[in-house]
Amino acid sequence: MQSTILCSQCDKPESKCGCDRYCCYCQGLENIRLCMDGKYYCPDCREACEIHVADTNEQ
Ligand SMILES: [Zn+2]
Ligand SMILES: [Zn+2]
Repeated sequence: MQSTILCSQCDKPESKCGCDRYCCYCQGLENIRLCMDGKYYCPDCREACEIHVADTNEQ
């Protein structure tokens, strides 16, 4: 099942999202990616929360 995950703040996909990107858990700024729940996470918190990035094919 494929569905586009939208940013919870602006309702746009990651590629079009212009929001300030920081981890919703730790406020980190490194390697932030949009995840399945529409929020941004850093790699450490993604792992801790066992959440996956919204679109792994995106550059
Ligand atoms: Zn956004
Ligand atoms: Zn984090």
